[in-house]
Amino acid sequence: MIRSDEYWSLWKESGVDVAPPKTKARSKMRASKNASSPKVNNLADIQNWLGNCKRCGLCEQRNKIVFGSGNPKARLMFVGEGPGADEDEQGVPFIGRAGQLLTKIIEAMGLTREDVYIANIVKCRPPSNRVPEPEEIEQCLPFLKAQIEQIKPEMIVALGLTAARALTQTDHNMANLRGQFQKIFWNEDLRLLPTYHPAYLLRNPSAKKIVWEDMKLVKEELKL
Ligand code: URA
Repeated sequence: MIRSDEYWSLWKESGVDVAPPKTKARSKMRASKNASSPKVNNLADIQNWLGNCKRCGLCEQRNKIVFGSGNPKARLMFVGEGPGADEDEQGVPFIGRAGQLLTKIIEAMGLTREDVYIANIVKCRPPSNRVPEPEEIEQCLPFLKAQIEQIKPEMIVALGLTAARALTQTDHNMANLRGQFQKIFWNEDLRLLPTYHPAYLLRNPSAKKIVWEDMKLVKEELKL
């Protein structure tokens, strides 16, 4: 097992303080009304239900659907925004540069990618890596929700604002959401910790310190 302190050097940088959450604001985003979920017994059933999905326009330019990967009984899940070019090519979440940083974060926590489950808010790459549209999120979210209900993680880390907003159904900003547990919109008991997306960390290395503080909170809560 990899010791967390071995990775501390990857994480050093200045602290940036952030404001506490303010009032709850409802997001304009809604869970899909279109997809009524069939009875599913496992992740393969959800993948079959998803099929060769053409529910939104993202299907037009995708190469591969990126369903999710990792431990189907994970205690901890990471949810990002949507696949990038590498993920679209290989059908595996978080394997590009941002993904390699996520892998380091997971390993710094004393875990491996096989211990956790990794998925995204949308399962197909948005063209030019643009932010997914509310309609695309609405169509895709029932499948992620079904995955979460099947895996039953104890905690979810939302990577970036798109994931944090979609899973809380608020339009708060990251400074208001991160650093403390939020509730996932359909399950009061499932704790969600929003933090910065690894792609943001590649552009703003000084925020690694903040993400590491968030991951320490996750480790403490899960007694890792
Ligand atoms: N960014 C994401 O949000 N998800 C991926 O799978 C890759 C990059």
